[in-house]
Amino acid sequence: MRGVAVLGSTGSIGKSALAVLGRQRERFRVVALTAKDNAPALARQATEWSPILAGLVATQGPEVLVEAATLPEVDIVVNAVVGAAGLDATLAALRAGKRVALANKETLVMAGDLVQAAAHAGGGELVPVDSEHSAVLQCVSGRESGLARLILTASGGPFRDWAPERIAGATVDQALQHPTWRMGNKVTVDSATLANKALEVIEAHYLFGLRYEALEVVVHPQSIVHAFAEFCDGSVIAQLGFPSMELPILYALTHPERLADDGIPRFDPVAVGALTFEPVRSDVFRAFRAGVEAGRTGGTAPAVYSAANEVAVAAFLSGGMPFGRIAETIERVLDQHRVLPVHDLETVRAVDQWARERAREALA
Ligand code: MG
Repeated sequence: MRGVAVLGSTGSIGKSALAVLGRQRERFRVVALTAKDNAPALARQATEWSPILAGLVATQGPEVLVEAATLPEVDIVVNAVVGAAGLDATLAALRAGKRVALANKETLVMAGDLVQAAAHAGGGELVPVDSEHSAVLQCVSGRESGLARLILTASGGPFRDWAPERIAGATVDQALQHPTWRMGNKVTVDSATLANKALEVIEAHYLFGLRYEALEVVVHPQSIVHAFAEFCDGSVIAQLGFPSMELPILYALTHPERLADDGIPRFDPVAVGALTFEPVRSDVFRAFRAGVEAGRTGGTAPAVYSAANEVAVAAFLSGGMPFGRIAETIERVLDQHRVLPVHDLETVRAVDQWARERAREALA
């Protein structure tokens, strides 16, 4: 029986994790749950799961995430906290030797080198929950040698085939109409700007150790193929499945083994029909282009990108701001930034703070 802490348990990924854990009660025990501010939902989950710890960040402070992630009874931390707030818990869990099933991609983007160092120091293990990275892990597990290139797929979001002027003026409701995935608001807007895919390219760089030249993105509107891994001899292995976060969550819990789970829909290629692929319009989706560039630049640039994006997306979601301002804000903040190497958490925090302030100024 392995102990699991679910951080961000009342959000979309957290609920999917509990759905999986509910079907796998013979193998896993929910030891800790945390939520940001949804006290009634957390109370209901605590009644159902009787964890050792149920923490509400709004009243107990962010330290409760670290406390939950490092309990001795915890073997696996499902980190589904949204945004930069998830970083400390990831670092602490890895230092304590836990497996971190990471749904919080911002953590790796902000501080990829520090996260890897923490895993190395404490013997912890980072396993992706993001569907594309889970797909890559499934493609490369047991085939670690000769990996040459990764191609991540993107649904293209709701504005995939819209004219640039129409995208620039898109509303919150339009941005939240994701064609294939049901997710939280921040990641749904990130999918509409394709910032999500840029964050995923950076995430892949840290998880799989490939240079940016070997990381590509292709638009695949059906969201059936989640990633391709190409090997040095030209062979390509892909992972397929209906869009559901429950499979990547289950695999993150069991990797490198697999468990049967009758709650996960069986694949049906005939029902799926044609699979199509097209290039990313990176001249139109400027938040994507800026993010990949920030990744290539390295140092503090990805942290600045992620922080500026978080502020811009929050402002967009609160209403009254055109969609095109998100990319503009990110570009403006990155233009002002003088890139530093990342040697410690203080640098990351200072840069994160700086970028948030510059983004708020740009939006004022
Ligand atoms: Mg993803």
